[in-house]
Amino acid sequence: MNPVRRAIEVRGVVQGVGFRPFVARLAAERGLVGEVGNDEVSVFIEVEGSAPLVDDFLSALKAQTPPMAVVFDIAVSERAPRGGNGFRIVPSRRRPGARTLVPPDVATCADCLSELGDPTDRRHRHPFITCTNCGPRFTIITDLPYDRPATTMASFPMCGSCAREYDDPADRRHHAQPISCHDCGPRLWWELAGGAGEPLLGDTDTLATAQRFLSDERIVAVKGIGGFHLACDATSTVAVQQLRERKRRPQKPFAVMARDLDAVRRIAFVPPSAELTLTQPAAPIVLLPIREDGPLAPGIAPGLDEVGVMLPYTPLHHLLLAAVPGRDAPAPTLLVMTSGNLSDEPLCFTNDDARARLSSIADGFLMHDRPIAVPCEDSVVTLGSNGEVPVRRSRGFAPMPVALPSDGPTTLGVGAEIKNTFCVARDELAFCSAHVGDMGSLESQAAFARSVDQLTRLRAASPEVVVADLHPGYATRRWAEDYVERNPETRLVTAQHHHAHLASLLADHGLVGTPVVGVAFDGTGYGCDRQIWGGEVLAIGVDVAECTRMGHLVPLRMPGGDAAVRNPFRIALGLLHGAGLGAVPWAPDEMEEAEVQTVRSQLDAGLGCLDTTSVGRLFDGVASLLGVRHRVTYEAQAAIELEVLARTAARPAELPFPVTSEEVPQLDWRPLVTALVAARDSGTDRAELALGFHRALGAATAALALGIARRANVDRVGLTGGVFANRVLTAEVTGRLRAGGLEVLTHRRVPCNDGGLSLGQVVIGRAMAAREQLLTDRRANGAVPLTAPGREEVD
Ligand code: ZN
Ligand code: ZN
Ligand code: FE
Repeated sequence: MNPVRRAIEVRGVVQGVGFRPFVARLAAERGLVGEVGNDEVSVFIEVEGSAPLVDDFLSALKAQTPPMAVVFDIAVSERAPRGGNGFRIVPSRRRPGARTLVPPDVATCADCLSELGDPTDRRHRHPFITCTNCGPRFTIITDLPYDRPATTMASFPMCGSCAREYDDPADRRHHAQPISCHDCGPRLWWELAGGAGEPLLGDTDTLATAQRFLSDERIVAVKGIGGFHLACDATSTVAVQQLRERKRRPQKPFAVMARDLDAVRRIAFVPPSAELTLTQPAAPIVLLPIREDGPLAPGIAPGLDEVGVMLPYTPLHHLLLAAVPGRDAPAPTLLVMTSGNLSDEPLCFTNDDARARLSSIADGFLMHDRPIAVPCEDSVVTLGSNGEVPVRRSRGFAPMPVALPSDGPTTLGVGAEIKNTFCVARDELAFCSAHVGDMGSLESQAAFARSVDQLTRLRAASPEVVVADLHPGYATRRWAEDYVERNPETRLVTAQHHHAHLASLLADHGLVGTPVVGVAFDGTGYGCDRQIWGGEVLAIGVDVAECTRMGHLVPLRMPGGDAAVRNPFRIALGLLHGAGLGAVPWAPDEMEEAEVQTVRSQLDAGLGCLDTTSVGRLFDGVASLLGVRHRVTYEAQAAIELEVLARTAARPAELPFPVTSEEVPQLDWRPLVTALVAARDSGTDRAELALGFHRALGAATAALALGIARRANVDRVGLTGGVFANRVLTAEVTGRLRAGGLEVLTHRRVPCNDGGLSLGQVVIGRAMAAREQLLTDRRANGAVPLTAPGREEVD
């Protein structure tokens, strides 16, 4: 039989995931000759042999891709046979201006774990054990194509044994870039805070010392894969309290790392689907119902009914959470593992930065010398009725792209002010960054600029369009304006906050270009009328650049602006005032009478008050009216605690929440506040009122969205914005919309909160650019443009 030769190009996440060794094995098993290699855009293969064997190779290639690989497409073309011997992996080649996909970091695999625990294996207890299926990727890559010299492992020359494994196509570490062993790999050591004493070397002493510190209720900074964690014994009230004081994080919940699934079950209820979520390669933090009778210190998640739990995901974590042979320090089972930073500062990821910024928090440091190229915080997911829902998309997911419906100019979306991520769209893919965080500090802004530089360099993408939020005060907006000034060939587009939330939801579902009615409920967003929005019903048609405000919450009054965000009792007073109950005496116990009086006179005079349609603020105010919380120490705290209270209710209280019948209909909370206060004062159970509020708001929202969808002849409604992290409200709205015959979209791949905003921004930026293109084409054809370019269509 005559041989055939085929050239195959595989595009997708195919670098750093063991794709080339996988191809070499498939070819060798079938006795085919040829070669495989990487370039920046793909894995290229040439394979030659009898036609049936080559066909069989192709079907195996499609059917059995390695676990970490994501294949977008496989292109096959015929070549003239030229014979040859064997099948080779050839060196990477470069294509100018090409794109490749950087794989995310992956938790230690089962094979590596069994070697880690095997005393006869040469990598027994090696804290940096990895293979082609697991280990650091995104966080160690400094350049592309992904090869060892382009990682932070470049400074660790392989020993003879590692080099042999690396070169052997039959070895499971063939071309595993972070390969290392006790002889040639990175080193662990222990040092005390403030540089006291000599560093302690040796894995055994280092790990045993760290464990002793933890069992002594002290705080240890642990260098991980994407940055430092601050760790302490999660069962120790003293340690947890100390960490809160030193980190200046009074109440925001801490994540817990549990040794194994059994340890997770001791602190939380674990439905079967949660096991898969916890043990997936990304190893995210999973929010699970907390066991009141479990061993966790009460300060882990004060006021909440859920705890964020993750499993160990690096060999170092596994070693830290297991007994050290020959030592008697007790191994921890449950550790607090919270970001290594002071509240509101960016994550520490270099040894020097950690020493400088964490010495006032940690008592000791578990250090190593493998540099982290890109900081990356842990991801957080929750379990909804349809499976996993992202809360923070970061380690293990970033920088995996989201596919866009079409090509377009390279576009950078700079994201929002809190929970910042940014997004780079290149060709038909959108790459969302890891979590950058809150942009309030200069350190955060510097970290943002550095990360943008890194991702655009890795993507070889210099933005032609930069998209920023409409809010003139956002740090990212100023950065974008500055960038465009320095790069005059780049265009600046601004996108209204909730418009971007809805565009993000469309991209999340691959539905950009289809009409949708969107409910965007969140804390704060700058509106097109310069008011603060956050309770909007919007409509987008086939052109995602155009968005119309179809309905909203009746504006409520925030006395003192930002002070009202930190002090929900101020919103509560604003609600009473707005409902005509301004004279009702009401002073929460812990509030100074003078402060309440000041706010009341502010409201009466209308001084220093901002109006907002924010549903997040409505939640804050209702939480305060029900005595749940009057001051917050972290974002959305009052709203979250109100939801927790609602979940304890046996039944909902009946509360009114009408929709007004103006041209642009509004959700009228005023009758609700009047009824709620009356019911509260006549002794109705607070939990029933909390649930009643959720139900009434959900019913009113669904009725408003249904009416708008019917008028617009649209059969799809999207729910987006941070408020839809609230599962009680989401279930209520979703159920009612479905009962009304509509399809409901909620977020699946990027968060509904501001962490998902940048994806929507690039979608809008692309659409604006396409309009201009259309305009230019029409001008060239002598036609008159129908739409003015760059006009913000919202309201
Ligand atoms: Zn492995
Ligand atoms: Zn070695
Ligand atoms: Fe938002």
